[in-house]
Amino acid sequence: MKRITVLFLLISTAGIHFAYGWGDKGHSIIAAIADRHLTPKARKSLQSVLTHPLVYYASWMDNIRKNPLYSETASWHYANVDEGESYETMPKNPDGDVYTQTVMIIERLKERNLDDSLRTLYTKFLIHMVGDMHCPMHTGRLTDLGGNRFSVKWFGSPTNLHTVWDEKLLESAHRWSYTEWSENIDVADEKERVAIVAGIPQAWMNQCVDICKKIYLNAEENSDYSYEYIHENIEIVETQLLRAGYRLAALLNEIYQ
Ligand SMILES: [Zn+2]
Repeated sequence: MKRITVLFLLISTAGIHFAYGWGDKGHSIIAAIADRHLTPKARKSLQSVLTHPLVYYASWMDNIRKNPLYSETASWHYANVDEGESYETMPKNPDGDVYTQTVMIIERLKERNLDDSLRTLYTKFLIHMVGDMHCPMHTGRLTDLGGNRFSVKWFGSPTNLHTVWDEKLLESAHRWSYTEWSENIDVADEKERVAIVAGIPQAWMNQCVDICKKIYLNAEENSDYSYEYIHENIEIVETQLLRAGYRLAALLNEIYQ
């Protein structure tokens, strides 16, 4: 009996893919856009903090997620908001979430006498977490693990709503490299860029929560999404990538001014 239970558990969890954020490409696009908008001063300061360009670190935080040294960061990629709740009313994750920890990191990075190794570590975290904070399903419901348990199909293949928004939409819309993506969507003029970076991280977070709520409203379990879904939603993906890129640049320019 015990063996059967174990087998059942293995089978029932085998199909669940726990995605960790924008796929590698999404995070790279965001970092590449941010890189295009660094001030010369910030770029120079960052050279003494990081040995490589921003893009190099874009997905690093996803890759160290299972490393025991960084186990405290496991919940720093998302902030669940259930149906009928807002980020403010939702019970907070005691281990921290993408918003609380991003704010903490920004504050620490503004300390002039922050230890060098911590400064490098927190800068690497920030590059990734600003991306996750703009990833719509990363504010998904706790009840379905941010859409990881919301089953849908993508061009006939079983997947879930979380993965559709982290990777599938982006990968299917264009066969572009992250460089091509960043060059093709980074077209906002100065006035638009200023408007995008205005405001505080809490407002950016709530913008993402609102987008996520609309995604749930328009989604139905077991739907088979394809071209029409891409057509209807790719602009939202592009907007969130662009916002994340500009806002990451603005934060780094402020921290390293
Ligand atoms: Zn992540």
